[in-house]
Amino acid sequence: MDKKFFIGIDIGGTKIYGALVRPCGEIVHSLKAATPPKATAGAILAALHKVIKELLKEAAMPVSCVLGIGVAVPGVVDSSGRVVITPNISLSGTELKKILIKTYRMRAAVGNDVNFGVMGERWLGAGRRADSIVGIFPGTGVGGGIIVGGHLLEGAQGAAAELGHVIVHPKGPKCTCGNSGCLEALAGRWAMERDIRAAVKGGEASLIADIAGKGLSQIKSGALKKALQAKDPLVTRVVRKAAEALASACVSFNHIFNPEVFIFGGGVIEACGDYILPVIEKALQHDPFFTKLNPPKVLASKLGDDAVMLGAVAMVRQQCDLKELKDLSYYPKVQIVSAGRVRVKGEVLSGAFYIRADGKVKVPGDLIPSHLTDDELDDICKKGPDVLIVACGHKKSAEFSAMALKYLRKKKILPCVLPMRDAVRKYNISQDRRAILFHI
Ligand SMILES: [Zn+2]
Repeated sequence: MDKKFFIGIDIGGTKIYGALVRPCGEIVHSLKAATPPKATAGAILAALHKVIKELLKEAAMPVSCVLGIGVAVPGVVDSSGRVVITPNISLSGTELKKILIKTYRMRAAVGNDVNFGVMGERWLGAGRRADSIVGIFPGTGVGGGIIVGGHLLEGAQGAAAELGHVIVHPKGPKCTCGNSGCLEALAGRWAMERDIRAAVKGGEASLIADIAGKGLSQIKSGALKKALQAKDPLVTRVVRKAAEALASACVSFNHIFNPEVFIFGGGVIEACGDYILPVIEKALQHDPFFTKLNPPKVLASKLGDDAVMLGAVAMVRQQCDLKELKDLSYYPKVQIVSAGRVRVKGEVLSGAFYIRADGKVKVPGDLIPSHLTDDELDDICKKGPDVLIVACGHKKSAEFSAMALKYLRKKKILPCVLPMRDAVRKYNISQDRRAILFHI
């Protein structure tokens, strides 16, 4: 069998996400399993092997089809692939890369999850073709990853780029790491929860108790978003404070690394990015030192939950030579069959359908480009295209509504409405991350 794949695995605190991925980055098959709670390293390794075995079994692939395995873990990993510390799961001290090579007799890459996530974004997401990237992923904590000259900055012991523990306010609140005033202690979700709980306890009125539950034991990112949408003053103030802490840290990071792009991912950004990213972008644009230079781009992650797993694949893929990676087309080719029909992945389609930025073809039934709702746009623009092409068929015309244009501007997606033949040509030859909506 000459079909070749990689296996990418993202081991998280609560779940293990694994996928079989083509060399071009297309996810062929994926699955999630629970990370055994409070388990020993042996039990976590057993769960990891099981995920690999199931992936191959469900896709009916022999292990000889796999070019390499990449595994991301939530902790510090040294350059030999040894897990140094994983604070939330018991993998500390595991020679994970050696175990993978010995068990599967193939190439392996093991590294920190956020570092790998930034590599994933560089390969297929928001950082494509950028050689210098600062990635910041605010979730419960704040993770970081830095790429300089196309390479991950690992540090002497693999502990570089822990951007959440950069101190932004020396007299600020205590952090989980033991220091005070870390970025994470101001902008992580746990820090926002702490501030919201204290204010509510102090008698401040807020909708958040109705949204997140009276005890406020956990305030998920989605609850923060709902409260922001309802213009709740407390949550707006707390999120704004977190955004400002991120903004001042980014001004410093810009002076140290002068990156082409800042990439923001993680649960807090997915939910509240529209409120946070403009604050950071503005601070970078108004840095007097950089007035005569171009400010860096500020972008949200394009790969979402796939970033870390795809980054693990990107890292092991780097060890292959180009001949092994001949399977290069990520997007399905589109062929015009007749005025009203096109062929995609062997199927002839007409009417309204779209191909998302991850190459998935969706046939939703009725869709009118000039009347797209935010929900429809959310689905068409899932997985973050840079450009959204609309292909208009014979005698049809289309334009985006003012609302859709506003949506696309906010998401930094370039709208592009073209007659069918031009649209298909643009789609087939584009180097950008792209989505296409057919209206034929
Ligand atoms: Zn800290």
